[in-house]
Amino acid sequence: MPERVPFVAGNFKMNDPGIGAYAENLAAALAPTQTEVWICPPCTALSRAVADTLGTPIEIAAQNMHQAESGAFTGEVSAPMLAEIGVRGAILGHSERRELFGETDEALRAKLPAALEHGLVPILCCGETDAEREAGKTDVKLRRQVELGLADVEDRLLGDVVIAYEPIWAIGTGKNATPEQAQESVSFIRALVAARTSEASERIRILYGGSVKAANAAELLGQPDIDGALVGGASLDPHEFAQIVAAAS
Ligand code: PEP
Repeated sequence: MPERVPFVAGNFKMNDPGIGAYAENLAAALAPTQTEVWICPPCTALSRAVADTLGTPIEIAAQNMHQAESGAFTGEVSAPMLAEIGVRGAILGHSERRELFGETDEALRAKLPAALEHGLVPILCCGETDAEREAGKTDVKLRRQVELGLADVEDRLLGDVVIAYEPIWAIGTGKNATPEQAQESVSFIRALVAARTSEASERIRILYGGSVKAANAAELLGQPDIDGALVGGASLDPHEFAQIVAAAS
């Protein structure tokens, strides 16, 4: 079975902690590690972030991306545009984009192959609401989001995708999933990928996201199928984020 390199990404959302000082502080706080460390600042800070992290282990990703290469899509940014400025990947289908901005599974189905075609790593987010979990519909929701999101990704590229399991009730609430709940859903997602190819299911990195902090990272990231974390609020503090990276390593 291939060794999966741990992966920790920080989603700054619409916050800019001052990218220059942030990058310097994070690079200084990181212990030597094999873990991939990515930060996802707002799009106005992407170029600056790429420049400020050159020569450090930190990679830069966007928080969204349009599936077309160019065209009449006011306010949007495409995969080749992100690749051109040195961005390495994009969060796709974050629950805030789905709930607040009408992101659909159909759009995501086109976004993943578009990202991969331009050498970007897509971080596909999925997760259930509180009501869906209470109704026993977590697996139904995850199956739909994961199967549709990956539908047009070629089998040979599936293992290059990163998936983030983010229960919506745990995002920004301070209420994280238990390690057992997170492991159960992440292993379900891995089984969905295995139904496509077993090679991809062994290679694909699946993260947990939802109120990850330095204090709970080790137990969540210690689960066998969880390969890292997508971190919102706690990633804005470079020292706390470095502790989460250390827990993943
Ligand atoms: C997120 O926005 O992806 C997230 C997981 O946020 P938080 O860590 O703040 O819950």
